[in-house]
Amino acid sequence: MDDVIIKWDTPQATSCGCGSKPVYFRRYEGNYYCEQCLIHQVEKRFRKTLADNNLVEKGDKIAVGLSGGKDSSVLLYLLHKHFSNVAEIIAITIDEGIAGYRDRSIVQAQKLAGTLGMEHRIFSFRDAFSINVDEIKTENYCTFCGVLRRQLLNKAAAEIGADKLAIGHNLDDEAQSILMNVVRGDFTGFQRLGASGHDGFVRRVKPLRDIPEKEIKLYAILQGIGFYDSECPHSFNNVRRDVQKMINDLEEKYPGTKMQILSFYNKSRVNTKTEKEAMCCKICGSPSSHNLCKACELSGRIDVLQNSP
Ligand code: SF4
Ligand code: ZN
Repeated sequence: MDDVIIKWDTPQATSCGCGSKPVYFRRYEGNYYCEQCLIHQVEKRFRKTLADNNLVEKGDKIAVGLSGGKDSSVLLYLLHKHFSNVAEIIAITIDEGIAGYRDRSIVQAQKLAGTLGMEHRIFSFRDAFSINVDEIKTENYCTFCGVLRRQLLNKAAAEIGADKLAIGHNLDDEAQSILMNVVRGDFTGFQRLGASGHDGFVRRVKPLRDIPEKEIKLYAILQGIGFYDSECPHSFNNVRRDVQKMINDLEEKYPGTKMQILSFYNKSRVNTKTEKEAMCCKICGSPSSHNLCKACELSGRIDVLQNSP
């Protein structure tokens, strides 16, 4: 049995620990949860990750990366629900210029920010890099898009004077990122993961990293949080997708795999804290392990690609 959403109207032989009708089966644990208990579980984990890693402090100005998808929408909702009285929260959206995809998710992002009555700013690749992702002549859009988006998010957060940049990475994303860095042999990237890190001008925090993707999706549905649910048209040629499939297969066969990958990472990180002296990119000043940061290196390659016959 998969740990999927149980249909509301299906009679179940078992019940939630509180005696109510279950809507979710947490397979790696063997427990069923009703709507209210699942909502409570998600919020409890969110608060624990924040508390354990000291991710939000009184008086913080927090920029929240909001794409309009389920993860970032739930993140904004939760931060607003639990911290709007102690912190200033501003939603920021990056428009990479992906027709039929990002334009639609932005509409959803605007709707949510409007409903919550929050300030929302949009930063585009067009303005920052003079190009849309759709226009880059490449087979591998994600290499450019991912790195440039990361840089623009950092810059946007710095521009609005944020103390923290919160992003909606869930447990599945985090487990994928860990293995992707292993597959690429990227130890610097590996070390930069975690609940909190300084890989830009602003401290990056991931309050949802201990919550499985399925639980976030169900939380959004149960709380009536509207989100844009579609895949980027460029995601077909994507290492993350392959790693995602591999981890999901492992999770199916060995429930708890995603949690174990994260737990392994957390333990290993404690022992690998001897990071190199922080260097800065010679062009933009972002923290970088080389003379040029990845974003400036790729920006140069875009020019070459665009001007090639
Ligand atoms: Fe960008 Fe790739 Fe993500 Fe699409 S799938 S938004 S191209 S990183
Ligand atoms: Zn219950």
